[in-house]
Amino acid sequence: MSYVIDEIAENKAIAREYKELLRISYQSLNDEDKKLIRLAFDTAVDAHNGQRRKSGEAYIFHPIAVAKIVASEIGLDATSIAAALMHDVIEDTKYTREDLERMFGPTVAKIVDGLTKIAHLSLDAGISHQAENFRKMLLTLNDDVRVIIIKIADRYHNMLTMDSMPEHKQLKIASETLFIYAPLAHRIGLYNIKTALEDLSLKYTDPDIYQEILSKIKESKSEQNQYIEDFSSVLTQALDKEKIKYQIKGRPKSIFSIRKKMQSQGVRYEEIYDKFAIRIIYKAKPEQEKFLAWKIYSMVTDHYTPNPVRLRDWISSPKSTGYEALHITVMGPKNRWVEVQIRSERMHEIAEKGYAAHFKYKHGDQKEKGIDLWLNRLQEALENANGNAIDFVEEFKLNLYAKEIFVFTPKGDLKSLPKNSTPLDFAFHVHTEIGMKTRGAKVNGKLVPLNTVLKSGDQVEIITSDTIKPNPNWVNYATTARAISRIKSALKEERRTIAEQGKEILRRKLRTQKIKLDESMVNKLVVYFKLKTSLDLFYQVGVGTIDNHKLKEFSSSYNNTILRFFKEKIRRKPKSPILEDEAPQVYDTLVFGKEGDRLEYTLSPCCNPIPGDDVFGFITIKDGIKVHKRNCPNAVALQAQYAYRIIQAQWIDSAQQDFPVDIKLSGIDHLGLVSQVTHVISNTMNVNMKKISFSTEGGTFEGSIRVVVDNNETLAKLLKHLGQLKGIDKVVRI
Ligand code: MN
Repeated sequence: MSYVIDEIAENKAIAREYKELLRISYQSLNDEDKKLIRLAFDTAVDAHNGQRRKSGEAYIFHPIAVAKIVASEIGLDATSIAAALMHDVIEDTKYTREDLERMFGPTVAKIVDGLTKIAHLSLDAGISHQAENFRKMLLTLNDDVRVIIIKIADRYHNMLTMDSMPEHKQLKIASETLFIYAPLAHRIGLYNIKTALEDLSLKYTDPDIYQEILSKIKESKSEQNQYIEDFSSVLTQALDKEKIKYQIKGRPKSIFSIRKKMQSQGVRYEEIYDKFAIRIIYKAKPEQEKFLAWKIYSMVTDHYTPNPVRLRDWISSPKSTGYEALHITVMGPKNRWVEVQIRSERMHEIAEKGYAAHFKYKHGDQKEKGIDLWLNRLQEALENANGNAIDFVEEFKLNLYAKEIFVFTPKGDLKSLPKNSTPLDFAFHVHTEIGMKTRGAKVNGKLVPLNTVLKSGDQVEIITSDTIKPNPNWVNYATTARAISRIKSALKEERRTIAEQGKEILRRKLRTQKIKLDESMVNKLVVYFKLKTSLDLFYQVGVGTIDNHKLKEFSSSYNNTILRFFKEKIRRKPKSPILEDEAPQVYDTLVFGKEGDRLEYTLSPCCNPIPGDDVFGFITIKDGIKVHKRNCPNAVALQAQYAYRIIQAQWIDSAQQDFPVDIKLSGIDHLGLVSQVTHVISNTMNVNMKKISFSTEGGTFEGSIRVVVDNNETLAKLLKHLGQLKGIDKVVRI
């Protein structure tokens, strides 16, 4: 690119822009403010000396333009103007944050640094650029809110001067603007900037549509002016008679919103009737504002029929952004509905400038504090929307990101994960190696179960251990395809290794019983233990589920089928189902929480709980779950101080399958019914009964049985079998 630079003219232009900046500041600037802005200006000029934008103009014009937007259109204070002037200084030049802190104090330095941070975050592979910028915004939401406002101004100016950019960049920047900056501007109450950002975005994302609507707006301009003229001529007399000072203006709908309407209603430009609103802006003393608004309302409705469902009184209850006005829709000339916005000059200014304008109307001390108050309130609004800043941004319903969450590593790096991800997903996302060795996880410094659902903004730390291997529960703890497939293949491999060892163990053990392990024997064993494959068999031997005792049972049954039959009978048939409830319990496994999760734990040495003791789990920071006795001397203190870290724990008998279920049966009584029922339960289904009671009355019976099943499937089968018995009318789970 070549251009002739007239330095003298350029310097003059820069000086002119600077003067203009001071002149148009919405806040009145005192000498100190001006000194601050001057120093910022000089620093920026020095820093950007020799730099040029793609268009060829000196770089300094850009920060000045941004500062002008900040000063005039948004109406921020001198601190913000200074920061805006220097918003690219740390980013591009020799100046550091420390320099700025020394020269301008901590606030300005912090804001400029925040702006730099937005620009500097490295791009994570695989994250869309919208998502990337979204997370950048997230990071800064916790800083000074002025960072975001200046960033919006910066983006606004970039959008205004985007023609010299390559097309793909235009598209990227425009879509980002639409997704992030326009909604943010809206939220902050910068309606004009929001509208401008939307229109500018459309200009680049959909240039044809944009130009088409733009030219149509131009075409219909004179028709519109005529309409407004017709509308107001009817009113002027009445307004003048009341000596109200007012202006009537047309407010054209933005190109972007016309486009939206065309799309959502499937109509052509010509078919949209509310392409503009009519604004009546009146002068009023504060105490007369509301009264006058309704007076004007009454005059308008004297001449034009109002649509009663479209009355909005933002004066009595202003919007959270501070917006005040009275909106009505009336049947205007040519029998067309037209929206009329009635606002005082003050309200109008607030609508144009946002909250900053509020404080122009306050007096003395309040006025001084005004801008801070506004910023604080804004910050609070940003932070409090549903509890935190992240929810606030999510509230925009940026569908693009709705399925994504953003979490931090302990070092503060951001990772994006699918919604509903757990710490285990996170671990596998960081690295397969880390996932494989996950022993526990801390979220925001607190130890949590591995199936905890993560939220945006969580800081996740994975605790690893070299001795840990994936266990089958992990499949339920993970939600991402990546983690699940890694866990499954690890389990499979693990299973194969164990099965190989198991096969050898089995061969050895059977040899001692004089049984040779050949293919047919393997098949017999698979059938006997009700398994599916030989791998299952070897694996179960390998992990010890099929132990010596069971193998001996098998061998004796194999050696003596009659004996086996007998033994089976004894083993399976409940001695006395009614008394079974009182049977002594075996405790061999600890489960945690309401769901009875099996988690890693250690028994606390301070009270040495043994199986069967009344216990609870305490989630420690370093050592996972520690189990204490309920009457442990430390228990009271722990429970009082760290109630949130207590996890319910219970000893169970792992052989007793975990789910007691109550079944209710009813039907017609007949001889042998009870024995048929118990036969189905105990023999056909091989399910344990814990309690049984039957009562009969007038030939009908009612029974309730508590069974213990391993899963829903068994239960469903059992209910089905019972239902098929003769005489049974109803079988339900309670
Ligand atoms: Mn910039």
